[in-house]
Amino acid sequence: MADHRRILILTLSVFALIFLILFIADTLSEEKNITADKGASGIQVKRFFAGTPQEVTVYFLRGREEGPTLLIFGGIHGDEKGGYLAADRYTNLNVRKGSLVVVPRLNLSAIRKERREGIDGDMNRLFHLPDDSRALQDSKVVNLAKSLIKDADYVLNVHQGDGFYSPRWVSHKRNPSKWGQCNVIDASSFDLPNGQRLELEGFAKAVAARANRKIEDSRYHFLVNNTNTAAGQSRHKEQRKSLTYYALSRHNKVALGLEATKNCSLPEAVAFLTAVINSAIEEAGLSVAQLPSESPYHIRAEWQMAKGE
Ligand SMILES: [Zn+2]
Repeated sequence: MADHRRILILTLSVFALIFLILFIADTLSEEKNITADKGASGIQVKRFFAGTPQEVTVYFLRGREEGPTLLIFGGIHGDEKGGYLAADRYTNLNVRKGSLVVVPRLNLSAIRKERREGIDGDMNRLFHLPDDSRALQDSKVVNLAKSLIKDADYVLNVHQGDGFYSPRWVSHKRNPSKWGQCNVIDASSFDLPNGQRLELEGFAKAVAARANRKIEDSRYHFLVNNTNTAAGQSRHKEQRKSLTYYALSRHNKVALGLEATKNCSLPEAVAFLTAVINSAIEEAGLSVAQLPSESPYHIRAEWQMAKGE
């Protein structure tokens, strides 16, 4: 009898232990870890995969007035500091009309390593995988990004690239193979199933023009770089695996890659990216009480203040 009781207690203990382990694992892996609702300000912060090397923080900034949703991704490439430092500046704005969803640091493990590649290589080459894929460790981060894309109208993926994009060869620094200072689109326009047409080039050009009015030195003006991703003769077939191409082709979103050059100081790169992000926000029809400053001097001062200097 005593033996039976001991076996029963042991069995129950094992079950209790298994339940506890499953519960802890679930808590760590689920997307619900921290939700800090700031209520009246309209800012909600959600932390996914908290405490892991793939932690992703998403800021939802909702205006009182109905309007479009613009989604900003920074940090998909960990060696493009300007991208995530620019996106960081959009997490606490007072949005009046429309919504901003900001993921300043999508690929935290790549950022920590200061490398382009994260756990499973280049995350901007994983968006062709099935939506529910669990094939890779980074799949859960990619799937989270995809779920946010579905609910957005406009999608910005913020980068920093070498040199200066130019449609014609000007120099080793300024030619069609360079990525700096351009708004990247996957197609000039995109035919929607309902017969309407998404005018990506028109939007990207309007955003560039708006930003360029605020950039004094014309050498740093933004151009539109159409990678013609789906075309048979595309020079950029690899972009078929990218975040913006997924957003456009699968969910018909106005998706832009924003690229500042690496051939300038970091505060300048962040200032350039701020100018184009601000322009996209305005062009999309959102209203924000005060957009971040587009001055590299202010940006440098912000960082010094944050460091307590
Ligand atoms: Zn990049």
